[in-house]
Amino acid sequence: MPITDTDVSPHSTVTDRWDEQVDLLVLGTGAGGLSAAVTAANEGLSVLALEKTEFLGGTTAYSAGTCWIPNNRFQRAAGVTDDERVAAGYLDRLVGDKAPREVRESYLRHGSEAIDYLDRIGVKFWHSATVVDYHPEVEGASLGGRALEPQTFDGRLLGRENFGRVRPPVPEFALFGGTMMVRRAEVNRLLTLLQGSPKAAPLAVRLGARWAKDRLTYRRGTRLAMGNALVANLFHRLVERDGQVWFHATATRLVTDEAGQVIGAVVAYQGRELRVAARRGVVLAGGGFSASPQWRSTFLPSPTPQYTRAAEGSTGDTLSLGQSVGGALSDPQDDNAFWFPSSVARRKDGSDAVFPHIWDRSKPGIVAVGADGRRFVDESVSYHRFVRAMYATNTVPAWLIIDARSLHRYGLGMVRPKLPRAYLRKYLTSGYLYGAPTIRELAGKIGVDADGLERTVAANNRSATTGVDEEFGKGTSPFGLQYGDPRHTPNASLGPIEAAPFYAMALLPTPLGTSLGLRTNGDAQVLDGTGEPVAGLYACGNDAASMSAAEYPGAGCQVGGGLTFGYVAARHAARPTTVPVPVPTDVPNRTLIAVEKS
Ligand SMILES: Cc1cc2nc3c(=O)[nH]c(=O)nc-3n(C[C@H](O)[C@H](O)[C@H](O)COP(=O)(O)OP(=O)(O)OC[C@H]3O[C@@H](n4cnc5c(N)ncnc54)[C@H](O)[C@@H]3O)c2cc1C
Repeated sequence: MPITDTDVSPHSTVTDRWDEQVDLLVLGTGAGGLSAAVTAANEGLSVLALEKTEFLGGTTAYSAGTCWIPNNRFQRAAGVTDDERVAAGYLDRLVGDKAPREVRESYLRHGSEAIDYLDRIGVKFWHSATVVDYHPEVEGASLGGRALEPQTFDGRLLGRENFGRVRPPVPEFALFGGTMMVRRAEVNRLLTLLQGSPKAAPLAVRLGARWAKDRLTYRRGTRLAMGNALVANLFHRLVERDGQVWFHATATRLVTDEAGQVIGAVVAYQGRELRVAARRGVVLAGGGFSASPQWRSTFLPSPTPQYTRAAEGSTGDTLSLGQSVGGALSDPQDDNAFWFPSSVARRKDGSDAVFPHIWDRSKPGIVAVGADGRRFVDESVSYHRFVRAMYATNTVPAWLIIDARSLHRYGLGMVRPKLPRAYLRKYLTSGYLYGAPTIRELAGKIGVDADGLERTVAANNRSATTGVDEEFGKGTSPFGLQYGDPRHTPNASLGPIEAAPFYAMALLPTPLGTSLGLRTNGDAQVLDGTGEPVAGLYACGNDAASMSAAEYPGAGCQVGGGLTFGYVAARHAARPTTVPVPVPTDVPNRTLIAVEKS
C-alpha cells in the first residue's frame, strides 16, 4: 500500500501526539474483527473497530455463519470426549506440512473455548448435528457433529440506526428481494408448501407476519439468520460493552516505535487523518483479498476468477499494512483460496448476481461437463473440491446439464423449483440458462462437443438405472448423499436425463475466501520473515494464513477460524503481562464517535 502521508515520521515515538487512544484497535468488522473486539471489550479493554465500508459484517454477513468447531459443547454434552484428538489426526492427514501444526493445534484447543466464551456473553449457536466433513474418506473426518449455526438474532435490539449499519444479506439468499431472512432448515420446510403439504403453513404465517410488521419501521426484516445474525449479535454485545465502531474509516498506515512495536495507526476518517494510539495492539481483520482483481491475478490460479461473492471490502490492504511493518505472507501454495462454483446473472439494477452452487450438484439427474462434453468429477463433492477439479482438468467454465423433470423438481442455481415453464423465459433470454429440445442441439448452443455430451448423458442414464456411477462414484460418499434426494431410488444422487427440453448452466470458479495471508503463531501474533512476532500486531480471519492452508476440512472453518483467532488475539492482548505502551497524557481526549446504544 502506498504511504501517502508526509507528516508522520517513519517511526513515531511515545512522545508524539495522538488524536485518539484506545487499548485495542481492530481493522475490520467480520467474524475475526468482531470476535476480537467483543472479547477485548469483555476483558475490560477500550476498543475501537474500524470498518472501511458503510456496513458492518463483511463477507461474514453474507455467509451461512456456519462454524467448524471440533470438540464443541454439543458434542461434549452428548458424551463425545475425544473429538479434539480425532480432529487433530484428520487435520494432520489433510493438511500435513502445508501449514504450521502450531496454528491448527491452537485452533482445536481454543475453538470450543471461544464458542463457550461467546455463549456466556449471549452469542449463541445451534448444533448442525448432521453436517458431514468435506473429506469423509480421510480418517478422522466427522460424519456429523462439528458444525454450528448461529442462532437467529432480533435486529431490533440494536436500535434503528445500528441495525441499518448491518450489511444486508445477498438478495438471492433471502426472500422478498433480500428483505426477509430464513434459516436453511426453514427453507426446506417452506418448500414443502410447493409440494402441496400444508404442514409448514403456520411457520410461513408466523415469519410473514413478523416481516410485514418490521417493514412498517425498517428497510428489511429484523429477524436475522446465519452470518447476518452472527455479526449483528456480536455488534450488539460490543456496543453493550462500550466498544466503538467507526464506519467509512480506513487505516492508511501502522505506526511503530523505535523497537518496531506497533503502537497505533494513521486513520483516514471523515476527511481527516487521525493518529490513533493502540496501547495493547492492532488486530488486522480485513477479510483477505477475494475482492481484489490485482491480488487475485497474482495469487489465484489461471484463468483468474473474475467474480467473487465476497464483500467488496476484502481487497488485501490490511495484508499490505501488515507487510509494511515486517509481517510476512504465508508461502503461496496450492490455490490460495476456498472456492465456490458459481453461476452469474445480471440483476435488474445492472449489478452481478454471483450464485454459489452448494447443494444442487448432488441431486439426481444432473451432470457437470467440460467443452469435450465429458464429466470430470463426482458432481456431489464439496464446492471447494469441485472447483479444484475444474482447475485440475482445465474445465473453465463447467456446464451443468439437467432435464426438464429434474429442473422442475429441484431447481438449479437461481432457478427455483416448481416454477411454471413460462417463468423460465427470463433466465433463457438473459443467457443464464440455455435450453434445447435435444442434447445435441443443447451442445451446439453452449459450444460443447455434441458426440461427447450424448455419450455422457447415455452413460448417466445407465448409472441411473443401476445406481452405480462407475466413472466417478457419484452417490457413494456420505458427503454428497446428504444433499441427494432420499426419495429417489436406487441411488439418491443418480437420476436420468431424458425428459426434454434439456437445459445447461455455466459455472465459474469464484473465491469465497482466501487462504493465503499473514503468517501468525498460535497466539494470532503476526510473524516476520524470520518467524519472530511483530510486537503489537495480530491477524485473524482471512487476513491470517489459514490454519489448514487451502485445504477445506469441513463446513465453517473460515468463520470458525475468524471467531477463534479473534478471541485468541484479544485474550493475548489483554493478558496481564502485557506492558501497555505509555501514551502521553497531554493529548486532548476527543470524544470517539459513539455508535448508538439500544
Ligand atoms: C455466500 C457465502 C457463504 C459463506 N458461508 C460460510 C460459512 O457458512 N462458514 C464459513 O466458515 N465460511 C463461509 N464463507 C466464507 C466466509 O464468510 C469468509 O471467509 C469469512 O466470513 C471472512 O471473515 P473475515 O472476518 O476474515 O472477513 P470479513 O467478514 O470479510 O470482514 C472483513 C471486514 O473488514 C473490512 N475491511 C477491509 N479492509 C479494511 C481496512 N483497511 N480498514 C477497515 N476495515 C477494513 C471489510 O470491509 C469487511 O467488512 C462464505 C462466503 C460466502 C461468500
